[in-house]
Amino acid sequence: FAEISLKDIDQVAKSSFPLCMRHLFEKLREDHHLKHGGRMQFGLFLKGVGLKLDDALAFWKSEFSRKVGAERFDKEYAYGIRHNYGKEGKRTDYTPYSCQKIISSTPGVGDHHGCPFRHFSEENLRAALGKMGVGNRPMEDVMDKVRNRHYQLACTLTFEAVHGSSCDAGINHPNQYFIDSQKLLQ
Ligand code: SF4
Repeated sequence: FAEISLKDIDQVAKSSFPLCMRHLFEKLREDHHLKHGGRMQFGLFLKGVGLKLDDALAFWKSEFSRKVGAERFDKEYAYGIRHNYGKEGKRTDYTPYSCQKIISSTPGVGDHHGCPFRHFSEENLRAALGKMGVGNRPMEDVMDKVRNRHYQLACTLTFEAVHGSSCDAGINHPNQYFIDSQKLLQ
C-alpha cells in the first residue's frame, strides 16, 4: 500500500480505520495525549498505513504539544516515534501489531489501546458500533460473537456491516482491515 498524507488522515480514519484505531485516534484528539501502549499500537498502525516519519512527527506533535508543550514533546516523545520507524536505538524496523497481539494485551486504567471487542464494556461497545454506522440487526450478530469470545469475527462482521460487502478472509490484522477497506472504496 502506498502512503497517506497528513491532510487525508481524518477522512481515511472515518472510512477505513478499524474500531481499535478509531478509538485511539479519537482519544488522542480529545486528550492530546496517549499513554505508551496507545502510542505503540496506533503509531505502528499509522506507519503501516504509509504515514511517513516526518508526517508522523508532525501529527503527534500537533496533538501532544497542546498538552505538554512543543519542547517537552521534542524531548520526551519524538524519540519514541523515530524509534518506531527504526531511526533510533537498535534501529529495528518495528512491525504493526496483529489482532492477536492487541486482543491479548492488558490495558490498564487510562489506557486506550487494546481491542474494543474484547476490552470495552457492552454498553460502550454498542455506542461505538452505533457511531460507526452498524445497524440493529448486524449489531446483535456482532454482540453474539463477542459473547462467544470470537473478537476477530465480531470485527469482521463490523467490517461487513460498515462496507456493505463481504470479507471472506476475515480480519486478523488492523492494517489488513485498512487495506481491504481502501480496496473497496477505490
Ligand atoms: Fe482492531 Fe483486530 Fe480488534 Fe478489529 S479485531 S478492533 S482490527 S484488534
